[in-house]
Amino acid sequence: MAIVRRPMRAGTVAVFLLLLTFAAVAAQTANAAQSQPQAVASRNQPHSEQAYALPPDKLAQAIALNKIRVSLDFAGSLWGLIVLGLLLASGAAAWLDAFARETTRRRWLQGVLFFSILLAILALVNLPLDAMGHAASLRYRISVQSWPGWLADQGKGLAVSSGIGVPLALLSNWIVRISPRRYWLWLWMISIPLIMIAVFLAPMVLDPLFNKFEPLEKKHAALVGKLEEVVARTGTAIPPDRMFLMKASEKTNGINAYVTGIGSSKRFVMWDTTTDRMPDDEIMFIFGHESGHYVLNHIPTMLAELVVGLFFVFWACAHLAESMVRRFGERWKIGPVASRAGFLTLFFAFSIAGFLMTPVGNAVSRHYEHEADIYGQEAMHGLVPDPQKTAVSSFNHLGEAWLDDPNPNAFVEFWSYSHPSVQERAEFAEHYDPWANGGHGKFFVK
Ligand SMILES: [Zn+2]
Repeated sequence: MAIVRRPMRAGTVAVFLLLLTFAAVAAQTANAAQSQPQAVASRNQPHSEQAYALPPDKLAQAIALNKIRVSLDFAGSLWGLIVLGLLLASGAAAWLDAFARETTRRRWLQGVLFFSILLAILALVNLPLDAMGHAASLRYRISVQSWPGWLADQGKGLAVSSGIGVPLALLSNWIVRISPRRYWLWLWMISIPLIMIAVFLAPMVLDPLFNKFEPLEKKHAALVGKLEEVVARTGTAIPPDRMFLMKASEKTNGINAYVTGIGSSKRFVMWDTTTDRMPDDEIMFIFGHESGHYVLNHIPTMLAELVVGLFFVFWACAHLAESMVRRFGERWKIGPVASRAGFLTLFFAFSIAGFLMTPVGNAVSRHYEHEADIYGQEAMHGLVPDPQKTAVSSFNHLGEAWLDDPNPNAFVEFWSYSHPSVQERAEFAEHYDPWANGGHGKFFVK
């Protein structure tokens, strides 16, 4: 639930991991969160009237960079599916299972070996595409992270996804064995507490592995004072000890802020690039937007929707996996879904579902992001001289920092945007003034 895009890798890992550990493309999906728009042919119209406009040199960079981002995003998603399909169809999965059996007699160790190698393969085959993404990000001066630092993050990502994914795969595989008919239901049921635990722990356990955090108050006491004005208006209890500053500047020039966690781990995180490069009024807007996620209970609501959606996904994936085994089992030399190599069909089914559900998840996310935009703009009414101007200026700063495309392709936006495009958001903000003519806001009367 960020102001512009999902927070870096670690944050996304939490929710997606549990969903897609089965799919084993977790790492790649977390990276895909960086995905961005494509250039459109008719983009040489004058941009002066647009609410979000870039200077000519930045516009050219944004167009070029977004072509790369979109290509890598789609290529990465499809590549993950292709590799899994190839592992099955080539007999590699069956071979890997045989190798595990020959290596050790202990069943659980065979499983550890099988799933660790599998996750490592999937991470490695995605590495070149991820590296191309990092190279592009460096070239356009969005990332400032050195290659060794980047590689270390990749290694940590693999360690985390294996550390969680391997035991989870073993557990799931075992459940399929003991309940070959109803396993999808049990898997769905255990996914609920697991997702809650992951979302609860992520900000405290996962995020600090990738970035440094400190209380926002420590270096920005005056700013916290201003944010408290917003807090007072929203009537929420976001005490200063729930506000954190993340040292993003070691890795990126991008600007962002987000809310994460659930229950007592719920918190507001501001990147230091944001505090260093944006005026306080605009930070108040960003904070208002994030407060909106908080106040409107977006995280619990989205989790509830996810859980309901997963019920159908688990059911459908179990059926898909079983039909794959029926049709291709012999040719792929795999046993039933309960067998180790056969279980990979369930991985594969989840990857396909994860890919197909991308636009659904993003449509839901865009809806909440738009609500948070409205909330944020209303929250600073009376606190800044001109909320519309402040919001539009914020979007321009955010868009420029990330080199967001002012004219994204409609299909790309539909498929891969977790937030409405910067252009749409800026245009909405420019015209949103519910208090004109004695009216009142959607969330605030005054
Ligand atoms: Zn947001």
